[in-house]
Amino acid sequence: MTDGPEYGFDTLQIHAGARPDPATGARQVPIYQTTAYVFRDADHAAALFNLQEVGYIYSRLTNPTVAALQERVATMEGGVGAVCCSSGHAAQIMALFPLMGPGKNIVVSTRLYGGTVTQFSQTIKRFGWSATFVDFDDLDAVKAAIDDDTRAVFCESIANPGGYITDLDAISAISDAAGIPLIVDNTSATPYLCRPIEHGATLVVHSLTKYLTGNGTVMGGCVVDSGKFDWTANDKFPSLSEPEPAYHGLKFAETFGPLAFTFHGIAIGLRDLGMTLNPQAAHYTLMGIETLSLRMQKHVENAMEIAAWLETHDAVEAVTYAGLPSSPYNHRVEKICPKGAGALFTVALKGGYDACTKFVDSLEIFSHVANLGDTRSLVIHSASTTHRQLTLEQQVAAGAAPNVVRISIGTEDPADLKADLNKALNAV
Ligand SMILES: *Cc1c(COP(=O)(O)O)cnc(C)c1O
Repeated sequence: MTDGPEYGFDTLQIHAGARPDPATGARQVPIYQTTAYVFRDADHAAALFNLQEVGYIYSRLTNPTVAALQERVATMEGGVGAVCCSSGHAAQIMALFPLMGPGKNIVVSTRLYGGTVTQFSQTIKRFGWSATFVDFDDLDAVKAAIDDDTRAVFCESIANPGGYITDLDAISAISDAAGIPLIVDNTSATPYLCRPIEHGATLVVHSLTKYLTGNGTVMGGCVVDSGKFDWTANDKFPSLSEPEPAYHGLKFAETFGPLAFTFHGIAIGLRDLGMTLNPQAAHYTLMGIETLSLRMQKHVENAMEIAAWLETHDAVEAVTYAGLPSSPYNHRVEKICPKGAGALFTVALKGGYDACTKFVDSLEIFSHVANLGDTRSLVIHSASTTHRQLTLEQQVAAGAAPNVVRISIGTEDPADLKADLNKALNAV
C-alpha cells in the first residue's frame, strides 16, 4: 500500500512499510535471513557503495525486514525515516552520534529511565561527551543549562517510571531558539498515545523491546527522524552539513535533504558502530506493532482502574500516575497524550524499603523483572535494581526513591490484578 496521511493509525500499524513480497507475493513481511545481497554487476556495486543508488549491500547496514519496520515506525511517528538498531540504548547512542563530538554536551531531564541516567552521566564521558541534568519543569533552568557546546536536548514524553509528562511544546520552543534538536524518548507512551514530532521533537527514540514488540520477546531500538531540522542553519552539526571524508566529501544535508540524518544513521552509524537489529527481531516487532493500538487501549484502561484503586489502599502512601486527578501532571494528559497516560506508574508504600521487597516477593501474577511494556503485568523495586547505581538524590529525582515500586500494568483481567496486588499488600 502507499502510505499516506489519509490512513488512520489502526491501518498504518498493520500496513505501513509492508508490501506483498515482490518475488513471491507473500502477504506477510518475510524474514530476510541473509547477510549479503548479490549485485547486478560491478557498476551496480560501485553505485551502492558510493550512495549514488539506494539498495541492499550487507545486513549490518540494511535488510528488507528491518527496512519494513523502519518505515512502519517512521510512518506511525509522522517522521520521514528511521534507523532501527539492536536496543533502546543503542538507539540513544545512534541518535547522539551524528550530533556530538569531544567536548560537546547534551541537556537532559532528571526524569529518565534508570539505564539512561547511567549511560548519560557515566558512559558517554568515554567519548568526551557530557550531560547536564535539569528539572524540565523549570524552563528557565533548561534555558540556562544550554551553552555554545550543547548539541541536543533530551527527555522522555511520559517519563519512566514516575508518571511525569514533559511539556514537549515548551521544551521544543527552547531547543528551537538555541538552534539545536530536541530528542524525545517515546518508549513509555508509544506513537499511539503521543506523537512527539507534532510537539516539536526533531528525533524520536524508542526501545522497541517494550510496548512496540509488546510481549517481552526481543530487544530492539529505533531512531525516527522528523526531517524538519535544518542541519546547515549553523555550524554546530558538521557531520551532517560538512563534507564527509568517508564518502569522498559527500555532504549529507546537501545530498539527502530531509533524509540526511536517516542516511547518516545507516551509512555511517550502522556501518561503523554496528549496533544492527537482526531480521528475526524486526519480525517479532512488526508482529507486535500490528496490535499496538488495541493493546495500548487495554493497558491504559487497566492502569486507570488499578491506579485509582491502589490510591485508596491502606498500605499505600501515594500513587504517581498522570492519569489520576491527584497527579500534578494530569493537566498535561489532554495536550501531550490525549488517549491516556500510559500504563506505567509508581507506588510508594508506607512501610518503606523493606515493605517494597516483601511486596514484590509476595506477588503471583505480577512478575518481578527488569522490563516493562509487556502484555504481562510486571513490577520492580527500582531502588534495589534498575536505579541501584544512582545516588539517593538521583533516585528521588528519577521517581525511584527507596519506598517506591514501579508497576507496569499488563492486559490481563483487572480484577485478577487487583486481587494479586491486594494479597501482596496485605502481606506487607
Ligand atoms: C527500556 C528503556 C530504554 C532502553 O531500552 P533497551 O531496549 O532496554 O536498551 C530506554 N528508555 C526507556 C524509557 C526504556 O523504558
